[in-house]
Amino acid sequence: MPNQNRDPYFIDRWSRGYFGVNAEGHITVKPNRDEKEGDLYSLTKSLVEQGIEPPILVRFDGILHDRIEYLHGAFRSAIEEFGYRNGHRMAYPIKVNPQRHVVEAVRQAGKKYKMGLEVGSKPELIAILTLESEPEALLLCNGYKDAEYISLALMAGKLGKRTLIIIEQSYELKLVIDIAESLGVEAEIGFRMKLSNKGTGRWESSGGEHAKFGLFSYEIVDCMELLESKGKSEWLKLLHFHIGSQLTTIESIKNAMNEAARMYTEIAVNYPSLSFFDVGGGLAVDYDGSRSNTDSSMNYSVEEYARNIVGIIGEACLDAEIPDPIIITESGRAIVSHHCVLLIEVIDVTSPTNVTPDYDCPADHPIIEELLTMHEELCQEYCREIFHDALELKERILEEFVRGTLKLKERSHAEKLYRSLLTKIHTLFNELPEIPEEMEDLDRFLMEIYFCNFSVFQSLPDSWAIGQLFPVIPIHRLNEPAEHRGILADLSCDSDGKINNFIGKKGSKDFLLLHPYNNGPYYLGVFLMGAYQEILGGLHNLFGDTNVIHAKLDANGNWEESKLVEGDTVEEVLHYVQYNNEKLLEQLHSLIEQSIKSGRITAQESAAIKKKFKQALESYTYLVI
Ligand SMILES: *Cc1c(COP(=O)(O)O)cnc(C)c1O
Repeated sequence: MPNQNRDPYFIDRWSRGYFGVNAEGHITVKPNRDEKEGDLYSLTKSLVEQGIEPPILVRFDGILHDRIEYLHGAFRSAIEEFGYRNGHRMAYPIKVNPQRHVVEAVRQAGKKYKMGLEVGSKPELIAILTLESEPEALLLCNGYKDAEYISLALMAGKLGKRTLIIIEQSYELKLVIDIAESLGVEAEIGFRMKLSNKGTGRWESSGGEHAKFGLFSYEIVDCMELLESKGKSEWLKLLHFHIGSQLTTIESIKNAMNEAARMYTEIAVNYPSLSFFDVGGGLAVDYDGSRSNTDSSMNYSVEEYARNIVGIIGEACLDAEIPDPIIITESGRAIVSHHCVLLIEVIDVTSPTNVTPDYDCPADHPIIEELLTMHEELCQEYCREIFHDALELKERILEEFVRGTLKLKERSHAEKLYRSLLTKIHTLFNELPEIPEEMEDLDRFLMEIYFCNFSVFQSLPDSWAIGQLFPVIPIHRLNEPAEHRGILADLSCDSDGKINNFIGKKGSKDFLLLHPYNNGPYYLGVFLMGAYQEILGGLHNLFGDTNVIHAKLDANGNWEESKLVEGDTVEEVLHYVQYNNEKLLEQLHSLIEQSIKSGRITAQESAAIKKKFKQALESYTYLVI
């Protein structure tokens, strides 16, 4: 029966039609949510054969394309439905995933919609300033700005970019006025408003009175007066708000929209140059597929989001008898999350059940004697009682060991007997007509640790930092039973370097159902990884960037791989922390010389050491299996 194990991972709930399972029990990728699908396991095997080792981050540009079509499509439909008298534009906030290949893929996919870019810092502006773009595509400049940033933004205008400088702090407007004058150019600007209505979810504090960014209503009024006094009122083109990322409820979006729409109409009545209404980002991704207002989910659809935005601003403009503005959305997460999958490989499993005690070993200690009796007497009728006794005995094992009345060899024997007893009790509990409440403790005790070749800190920082849920599933063997309860541990020597929170039926659960390892290869995929993770990831334990590849399906449904970016080498990560390659080799040479002199190694051995060291410097920072 193929799809019997499909359910435990709730794939249909979160995959949005991009992923599925085929008859062989492999995960499939459907970049356009239609019939055309590729086998993710085959892709993985082919990459490994080519010497591209896990962890590998795979980007599916087709999915990216589809997300952009889908989002824009939702707005087009809403515009039609409400008879809205203007259009919708997207601007991609590059902070969400600034990798060059991603930005290029987004721009390619968004070309026909004149998709723009949003930058929030000087380095981001410089990164994209020289990219070729559609003359009408907007370049939105956000973030804290100094004179250099503003000069660059104004010069971009001279280079044919439609640059809009978004004023986030009052002082910035004075700078723009002065610099534009000295450069002899006109500017186009927007105001970021600080709304009183906040978002909901983890990033709630990005909005509201204490938000870091944006202008209070009185600051906006002051800025308008300043523009007027300089005769530059017509510079004002855009009004913007951004109340946080991963907005979990539609109510918060509606409240913000109502306030923002009022601001827009009041200002636009007096400033007819105002023609863009920019609602920022925040459109959420349903990571756990629960369609709820929990932090890793959202209680609304993309269509509902679009209808509320178009409906609210449209109605406000109708009432105020002003033209409808072009609506700009700066969705980042909702565009790039789905297109990245991280492939990791299980390298070992530790299992508390994996012990075989020697039942014939002489019972030379009362504790061991008792454990052996428990084994003998274990049956369904007494299994709960024996479980309680076993827990008590476990404490005595430690006490007697510390006191010196139980030897190390005896302790080891006793612990093996204890573990195998609990494993047997677990089986009996499962057969009881009603599963006892102690089962939860027992489950936790019997949890297995699957060690995987990756670093949480490098590849899934939000899983560690804010408890963000990401779907994790085996990408093959899905038509075999997965009955092992496991958590995932990474390669780092940090006890936080693990994933122990997974998508559950309702909310999350603390284990993942996995297959027996059987010495592998056993590959897992971490899904919906495309937003924020890559750029927020760090070098904890000096594990560097992973291998990255772009994959797409050709006309025959075969994988085509491109744009391989090899992961960091040891040499590269050491360089980040100021270890210089040449210096390291120099130091190695002098160590070797001393060792030869003192007769510890031969000349031949020294050559082998040198070779190994150099090879290691050029190798991948992860385990090569
Ligand atoms: C971060 C950011 C975004 C993107 O937010 P998402 O939640 O990823 O859609 C959009 N606009 C601005 C101004 C931002 O700072």
